Amino acid sequence: MSNRAAPTRPTLGIHHVTAIASDPQANMDFYAGLLGLRLVKRTVNFDDPGSYHFYFGDSHGSSGSLLTFFPWPGARPGVVGAGQVTATAFGVPAGSLARWQRRLASIARINAELFSRDSTSGLTFRDHHGMVIELIEDPHAPDATPIPGVHALDPSIAIRRIAGITITVRSHRDTAETFAAMGIISAHTTGNRTRLTFAASPSPSPQHTTSTTPTSAGSFIDIITDDAAPAGKSGAGAVHHVALRAADLSHQDSLRIALANRGLASTPVQERSYFRSIYSRERGGVLIEVATDAPGFAIDEPIESLGQSLRLPPSLERARQQIESALPPVTVRTPTPEQV
Ligand code: ZN
Repeated sequence: MSNRAAPTRPTLGIHHVTAIASDPQANMDFYAGLLGLRLVKRTVNFDDPGSYHFYFGDSHGSSGSLLTFFPWPGARPGVVGAGQVTATAFGVPAGSLARWQRRLASIARINAELFSRDSTSGLTFRDHHGMVIELIEDPHAPDATPIPGVHALDPSIAIRRIAGITITVRSHRDTAETFAAMGIISAHTTGNRTRLTFAASPSPSPQHTTSTTPTSAGSFIDIITDDAAPAGKSGAGAVHHVALRAADLSHQDSLRIALANRGLASTPVQERSYFRSIYSRERGGVLIEVATDAPGFAIDEPIESLGQSLRLPPSLERARQQIESALPPVTVRTPTPEQV
């Protein structure tokens, strides 16, 4: 934990995005059912064990593919605005957008709008709470690698990773400088949208990175400058934070120092069972987590059965019966027939 003169090793990419939802089953139906993400962990909010924490991702639960939710039954709607992640973009195979349009329309009656940005085509639509989701053609992401016996969408359509996020702030400069200090570099500005890109060839930690861990090449953070945006407020349909990847604790500490050098305080390291995290709020209002790749989601259940049963950290195991009886039952339901 010492300051050092060497330049900070860039973050390896986006680790996960976490948002608030209300009804847990509706959350499961949208992200596992409709979008075909795998539920890779069914656990509770460690800070509030009376509520679920769901992790959705690729078949392997790879860092960089994860969208997580705190589904609080009856949660009030949030306000989407300044100081938040205001869109989450998943990377999908090139040529799959028309099939996605049909799938979204036929299963959920969602009319996804086609857009083109930075020579990339994508679809934009909202989930049942109004949270903005994008699916963009993502040639940089490796093909999805299904696990035998585990249900997954066909690799020709399956979501591959989080390709990028959009953040809205009132003034982008300080926010962009904070991300730059973590190695996410400003590429260009078009209108009020500034694109930051991750280092093209991060050197991952070999012992914790499988061939399925998505590369951060081509992934991005877009900063929208909007001085008239309402202040973002936590609640259903609002993103709570974005987590960036650190290879290990020493890499995480170097990123903490980079934040400290910009006058930004971080929390002590938090034990999150599947990764270790620190949290810091940048001056534009966005809560940034820095999470380690290790130990990953197979630490407490086999990769083949990820997400099937409620997992609890050792500190909460003693209260399992009480915790389980207070949580509403939730099942992963696959739309039938497969309407794509
Ligand atoms: Zn998080």
